[in-house]
Amino acid sequence: MGKIKRIGVLTSGGDAPGMNAAIRAVTRTAIYNNLEVIGIRHGYSGLINANFKPMKAYSVSDTIQRGGTILKTARCMEFKTPEGRKTAYENLRAAEIDGVVVIGGDGTFNGARIFNEEWDIPFVGIPGTIDNDIYGTDYTIGYDTALNTVVQCVDKIRDTASAHNRMFFVEVMGAEAGHIALYSGIASGAEAIIIPELKGETDQLKALFEDGTKRKKSSNIIIVAEGDEEGGAMGLANRVKADFPDYDIRVSILGHLQRGGSPTAIDRVNASRLGNAAVEALLDGQKSVMVGLQNDEIVLVPFRKAVKLHKDVNRSLIDIIDILNV
Ligand code: ATP
Repeated sequence: MGKIKRIGVLTSGGDAPGMNAAIRAVTRTAIYNNLEVIGIRHGYSGLINANFKPMKAYSVSDTIQRGGTILKTARCMEFKTPEGRKTAYENLRAAEIDGVVVIGGDGTFNGARIFNEEWDIPFVGIPGTIDNDIYGTDYTIGYDTALNTVVQCVDKIRDTASAHNRMFFVEVMGAEAGHIALYSGIASGAEAIIIPELKGETDQLKALFEDGTKRKKSSNIIIVAEGDEEGGAMGLANRVKADFPDYDIRVSILGHLQRGGSPTAIDRVNASRLGNAAVEALLDGQKSVMVGLQNDEIVLVPFRKAVKLHKDVNRSLIDIIDILNV
């Protein structure tokens, strides 16, 4: 590949608040460096259908505070095929795009990694997913906003739980990981947190209820990660109800409201830094890497590692759940 003159940018997989701030940072850093920018709409589908639109500095005006993604996002099965990726390559070549910034989660990075094993147009990734489940970065864009949304919701649920002496099972997103559940549980003072990374919590729950009955707690909040193998909040609540019929138990599944809303300041700043770093990485000749944040510093992590290695939850938080609930 020769010198980079024109880059593309796309968002892929699940949407996350702060994606627009990242698109803005990519666009403006590119323009600052005299590059042309092409917005690719609807994720990898836009590569295959050549759904391209030139981006100017003003194209990203008034977007830093908006949730969703102005480029739209999609899940694209065709990109998983060699033929689909060949079409994508041909469209990129025809549009004279010399490098692409992809904003998404591990599926998006896996697609980019495979593409870069086959074709010579470099892809650089920005971690954009509310789940915070990407190895190699302390935070993904959208996680902080989703977390704050969950905490606001649980605070409201606590009010009604206390008023009625109820127990609530609140199911939160996070895909296969428990990052949102663990952090939101700590931040909202939950009595128990059920995450895929911890086993045998049903027994712990029983102990908690027996203890809670003794202490006459006026409310109990149990945060359940959607990825937990115990069957989600509904399944767990039904089992507990069977064992403790006297408890007034309710279930709240927060659902898609966790994805929306204006990004927090932290997400906007992270997105701005990572968007800037992704363009710098392309200009430095990088390919098949994710830009991440570790200890507040920008790092480059090969897609190979980001998608293969598992990011564990913060175990020190697990240790304090019970202590903070004495
Ligand atoms: P989120 O974490 O929010 O779900 P994600 O990026 O992991 O985001 P996915 O739906 O897993 O979301 O992946 C996004 C897109 O990446 C897929 O629709 C597909 O186009 C592409 N992709 C995923 N896995 C592969 C693969 N193995 N080969 C090629 N492309 C892939």
